[in-house]
Amino acid sequence: MNQLYTGAEYLESLKDGRNVYLNGEKVTDVTTHPAFRNCALSIARQYDALHDPATRDMMTGVDDFGTVTHKFFKPSKSAQDLLEAREAIAHWQRLGYGFLGRTPDYKASFMAGLHVNADYYGPYAANATRWYQDFTRKAMYLNHVIINPPLNRAKPIHEMGEEFIHSVRETDNGIIVSGAKMLATGSAVTHASFVAPVGSAVLEPGKAEALALVFFVRMDNPKLRLLCRKPYGLGHPFDHPLSSRFDENDAVLILDEALIPWEDVLVYRDIERSTGFYAKSGFPNLYNFQSAIRLATKLEFMSGLLSRAVKANGTDAFRGVQAAVGELITMRDMIWAITTAMAYDPEPSTGGTVVPKLEYASAIRIYNAQVWARVHELFETNLGGSPIVVPSSHKDLENPELRPLIDRYYHGANCTAVERIQLLKLVWDVIGSDFGGRDELYERNFSGNAEQVRLDALKWATRRGSLARYEAFVQECMDDYDTSGWVRGPWKQESSQPCVG
Ligand SMILES: Cc1cc2nc3c(=O)[nH]c(=O)nc-3n(C[C@H](O)[C@H](O)[C@H](O)COP(=O)(O)OP(=O)(O)OC[C@H]3O[C@@H](n4cnc5c(N)ncnc54)[C@H](O)[C@@H]3O)c2cc1C
Repeated sequence: MNQLYTGAEYLESLKDGRNVYLNGEKVTDVTTHPAFRNCALSIARQYDALHDPATRDMMTGVDDFGTVTHKFFKPSKSAQDLLEAREAIAHWQRLGYGFLGRTPDYKASFMAGLHVNADYYGPYAANATRWYQDFTRKAMYLNHVIINPPLNRAKPIHEMGEEFIHSVRETDNGIIVSGAKMLATGSAVTHASFVAPVGSAVLEPGKAEALALVFFVRMDNPKLRLLCRKPYGLGHPFDHPLSSRFDENDAVLILDEALIPWEDVLVYRDIERSTGFYAKSGFPNLYNFQSAIRLATKLEFMSGLLSRAVKANGTDAFRGVQAAVGELITMRDMIWAITTAMAYDPEPSTGGTVVPKLEYASAIRIYNAQVWARVHELFETNLGGSPIVVPSSHKDLENPELRPLIDRYYHGANCTAVERIQLLKLVWDVIGSDFGGRDELYERNFSGNAEQVRLDALKWATRRGSLARYEAFVQECMDDYDTSGWVRGPWKQESSQPCVG
């Protein structure tokens, strides 16, 4: 039986008294507040796609417990499963034109493997299985918080123990936890936060046990507060077509002596397990798969957008402008090709499951951040100042005195003034608005700081032996010769003289 949230059930589930703060006040209902309403409705639309007869079979499958769930929420056992999961992810992403970074399928990258890896969590293994089951049955929406706030990066983590999330004490019912994490994206409209140290965290044994925690905190926990950033989604659709519906507010999450019931704990005061789960769970392999599918979808949109904007400007026949559109299209194709490799050429994981190869995940993780910077450059260099050659708002178009002037002076090479203004305002929402600036910051940083993603690539290549193979390859070359000349291969001839040099 399909027990997955419908859009309406999902919206209803958010009315739980959660402590979301904005502009000095508590938000009483995120489903009606203008800063969150349209984002919640966008997620609700995704849930409805799990039930829509036109998409239901493509989106859902049955897991080993017999539960009907989203195809990416259950573990994949073959390349075919990953391909089908890609289709389900891509459909959800198309509903947000690729601009919703933390849709519920993002955290499925971790949760899908939680039951098959349950033993990893030792005394909390049963919690892992139960959370997997609850998550898959409803397709729960989790946010995740793993990064400590940038209060003083120079200090060892344990010296920041009072400000960072840490266990204060334990009770019969669970752990009492206090501290903050930076940026819980989308959290105001989710069901729970997944809380853990980041994989690269240096937690010193004997000093940092209080910070070595992995747990879930439900959004209605009375001691949880979300302090949201300024919302970007309050504008009119004509002027802010993306931000007015896809603003996933990023919040600082603060726990103040919050009780985390034992049932919601995965790791408690265990330094090795608190960061080791990343490698074990397949999370990096899978979240980069989900993110790459999202980014490819977004680049389809951006390719269409640039192409239409240069046509409106009448620059589409110029050779350099055509080259820019061509380059953008190949970025989409490159990323889609990586997702194809990730699906068709997976690596084995726990219990007969498969996940995309870590090497492919690592490659797209680094490319992701570079791509978005280049997208901005292509838009800004090929559209010039045109994205701001638009009236201040839709109200100017409704002013009878201004309208004839606008019709005359704002039209496009191939379209009316209204069509051109609508298109260019869409461009600005992506590349220039508050929303666009945040979006760029997201693409650059969401997967880790620029150095860390590269350091991880080196660490993984070292651990998995590929770097050793590459070094041995160089040795093979160096073994072809020595100070006497060629010592092997077709270059070495018995009668030949050593090279002169
Ligand atoms: C829009 C947005 C949404 C986000 N959403 C989420 C979310 O939902 N959940 C979540 O957990 N996180 C989220 N993040 C946080 C994101 O994961 C981090 O921003 C990212 O990992 C980079 O970390 P940082 O911001 O702490 O930068 P830092 O790690 O502080 O890096 C800044 C610079 O300092 C350098 N640096 C930092 N530490 C060291 C060191 N020890 N040694 C040498 N150099 C160092 C880095 O190399 C880099 O050059 C979000 C971020 C953004 C921008």
